Amino acid sequence: MKCPNCTQDNKESAKACRKCGRDLVIPPAWFPDFKWHAKTLGILYAGIVVFYLGVTFALRKLPKPYQLRQIPPQLTPWLKG
Ligand SMILES: [Zn+2]
Repeated sequence: MKCPNCTQDNKESAKACRKCGRDLVIPPAWFPDFKWHAKTLGILYAGIVVFYLGVTFALRKLPKPYQLRQIPPQLTPWLKG
């Protein structure tokens, strides 16, 4: 069998690569590839966009005066001066 690390040929019964010493008993662990990253990040980004649009829509539906973008100065008198 070939070593997955250095492609050195080893005996089928070998427990470790004779060149680099890599353990041949444990199957290679799954490693995320570019497609997996693109898919996962795409799903996360789409979720964030949907969440943002949902929150924006919900905030616009709030009754007055909570839908205001700017807080009137009389609501924060401690910020005067
Ligand atoms: Zn090796």
